[in-house]
Amino acid sequence: MSVHVDIHTLPAMLTALRLPSFQRHWSDLAGRADAEGWQAARFLAALAELELADRDSRRIQRHLLQAKLPAGKTLATFDFAALPTVPKARVTALAAGDWIETGDNLVAIGNSGSGKTHLLAAVGHALVEAGYRVLYTRTTDLVQRLQAARRDLALEAALGKLDKFDLLILDDITYANKDLAETSVLFELIARRYEHRSLAIAANQPFSAWDRVFPEQAVAVAAIDRLVHHATILEMNAESYRRRSAAIRIDGGPPIVRDSLSDNQTEPGSDSQT
Ligand code: ADP
Ligand code: MG
Repeated sequence: MSVHVDIHTLPAMLTALRLPSFQRHWSDLAGRADAEGWQAARFLAALAELELADRDSRRIQRHLLQAKLPAGKTLATFDFAALPTVPKARVTALAAGDWIETGDNLVAIGNSGSGKTHLLAAVGHALVEAGYRVLYTRTTDLVQRLQAARRDLALEAALGKLDKFDLLILDDITYANKDLAETSVLFELIARRYEHRSLAIAANQPFSAWDRVFPEQAVAVAAIDRLVHHATILEMNAESYRRRSAAIRIDGGPPIVRDSLSDNQTEPGSDSQT
């Protein structure tokens, strides 16, 4: 090794080595090391630690962008009091991700506005922060993409690309068309990920009505079988949070208005009188 070291080339070398955190911190840290008489190894280890920590957080930021989760839907903004059928402890456990390790599924069933999208997105967000890869998509959008891939004879490759995601969140599965070609790519996706990679699905219809998603009953049964074999099912029938918060705003909302609203369960799709 050459004894002549030119420290003026350090920034360029760190850039070439792709060590931006070394770049950002070395000068301050060197000052501290000199002042406090650190061993050279300690100085180097401190820089390496900073680089690794920054790399982690940059990776998580990248994965959050790639997850395409709806903005602002996190556990921090989720009001568990509004959803008595889903205890917070259960969601906290889901957010830890053990079920992802075994490729288990999550199915949220409930009426429109009950918080399915928010809850699944919030769990997805927490999982990305825990280091998992997640992709959020409306079922119809994904099905369109897969169908286009099939037309190009690239369905296998398209499904393969989705394997890199530990969790795929399929929102609004019951809005998917009753079209046979569409449901067959959806079935292939479910079958491929079965016991291998997790799915989280939001549906505003109970399983008994899923013949609307899969027109052939045998396919509906086979799909549901695979989905629920290792799954957590969240029953989320609750007063629409949208309607409820609208009513609270209109009434100027003391808490008592909210309590009386939650007793007033409405049927999915029916108009609230409140
Ligand atoms: P769904 O997908 O079941 O139709 P959403 O998750 O889209 O319902 O919820 C509708 C709106 O109400 C969203 O803006 C969502 O953030 C909000 N929301 C629903 N439930 C809750 C909740 N328990 N706490 C906070 N916001 C909620
Ligand atoms: Mg939704």
